[in-house]
Amino acid sequence: MDIGYIDTRGGTDAPLPFSEAVLQGIAASGGLFVPTELPRLSLDDVLALAQQPYAQRAAEVYERFGVDFARKDLDRLMGQAYGDNFDTPDICPITPVGEDGMYVLELWHGPTSAFKDMALQCLPVFFSASVEAARARGGADNDYLIAVATSGDTGKAALQGFADRAYTSIVVFYPYGGVSDIQHKQMVTQDGDNVCVFGVKGNFDDCQTSVKQMFADEGFAESLLAQRNVALSSANSINWGRLLPQVVYYISSYAQMVADGRLEAGDLLDVCVPTGNFGNILACWYAKQVGTPIGQIICASNTNRVLTDFIETGVYDISDREFVLTPSPSMDILVSSNLERQLFELTGRDSERIRTWMQDLTEAKCFEVDAETRTALQDTYRAGSVDSVTCLQTIKAVFDEYGYLLDPHSAVAWKVAAEYKGTRPLLVASTAHWAKFGANVYRALHGIDPDEPLPAEVADLSGAGLNREIARETGHDDIPPALDELDEKAVRFTQTVPGSKLGVEAAIADFLQG
Ligand SMILES: *Cc1c(COP(=O)(O)O)cnc(C)c1O
Repeated sequence: MDIGYIDTRGGTDAPLPFSEAVLQGIAASGGLFVPTELPRLSLDDVLALAQQPYAQRAAEVYERFGVDFARKDLDRLMGQAYGDNFDTPDICPITPVGEDGMYVLELWHGPTSAFKDMALQCLPVFFSASVEAARARGGADNDYLIAVATSGDTGKAALQGFADRAYTSIVVFYPYGGVSDIQHKQMVTQDGDNVCVFGVKGNFDDCQTSVKQMFADEGFAESLLAQRNVALSSANSINWGRLLPQVVYYISSYAQMVADGRLEAGDLLDVCVPTGNFGNILACWYAKQVGTPIGQIICASNTNRVLTDFIETGVYDISDREFVLTPSPSMDILVSSNLERQLFELTGRDSERIRTWMQDLTEAKCFEVDAETRTALQDTYRAGSVDSVTCLQTIKAVFDEYGYLLDPHSAVAWKVAAEYKGTRPLLVASTAHWAKFGANVYRALHGIDPDEPLPAEVADLSGAGLNREIARETGHDDIPPALDELDEKAVRFTQTVPGSKLGVEAAIADFLQG
């Protein structure tokens, strides 16, 4: 099946092949790439995936999506993406928690202990292969600079995925002071000759907006290409190469649950996703759309509940919305980029409406969808939000009741999921290992409020030290070695830049000057 990629804002003339969409990252108009059509999997196609190792499940799904790589190349590339860089051959195991049909999909068994690895161990492999393919076709011989805005987890996962890869370098911008101690150390100790990390003064939205504006600055891109032979690209979840790997695990999970006798073939599975930039949950929607029997898709937010409000009202309004720092920083977001893809699909692919809404969002910081789109949205998603105190209480309640330790993001999803739980089995997407967010897990277990300081006896511990204390208290001695050893690694990056387009551009010029 020939599937190409088009721009949600109608900017592309002819559809691009997958590899080109991956290299470009974002369309020239500022829109996002989406497939021209979706493949269709039968129930048997879905169930058959369970017979294969995860890497081949991924290759199979990629092949269905018509990507422009031969199957033998797909198998090889997926073998690199999903091998012993994960700490379990299952890659993303499913753990039943309690007796009521709640299941946790553990997406954090990769090298950086967050679900971003599911996509960012895969995207760089395809990125390099796409550069090679373009060169082999006689295309341009430029290198690429991946620029990433991160609320914490994407940065490290992208650095890890792109470190020392051919034809690329990577620069990461994170909100200075807005990420956890562990996240910060993970990024600033990153190895590799082609990597660089900057703190941005401001919150994540300032950081993401600055990077987006830099991407939109054609003059800047042209000067990089002319002077340094480097083209810009993105590893944020606006890149389709980030989304497709995420579609895989929802299809695969369904097959696995049937194979494990946890679900009758064909019965519906509900899914709840802790949501920020709307990438993970959109991947679940695509999985359902191509034929996986998924029932309700539940969107879980923290106090920054712009998505919950949008799904309930059809109004996306950030004109007067405060950005709140919560124990789940990777969901602290106001502008949720991937929503654009969803709206494109729900409007019957109406680029004109998308352009208008995105322009309204930029200019008035608010847009309202028409009644028909609102109804479609409400038919598609359930939504709920959880405040920070409740989030921490949920970590404690689930630990006390089941002995299972959730990180704050997964706890938000658990709580919202529990509210919607009906008779169907429900899969909660768990997006980080608890040890990435030890300080708030400690607060949770000790009944300390989210914005209260830690007690004196642990206040001086580093993130890794605090994790060991939690492991001792709970008996959860599964701290990933890469997190446990962070204090021994040298800090390589300490620079901060202003939260503006110019700040980001100056940092990039500086890095490329080397
Ligand atoms: C990125 C992230 C999220 C949000 O995922 P989106 O795809 O941006 O919606 C949730 N939890 C964790 C731990 C994350 O790193």
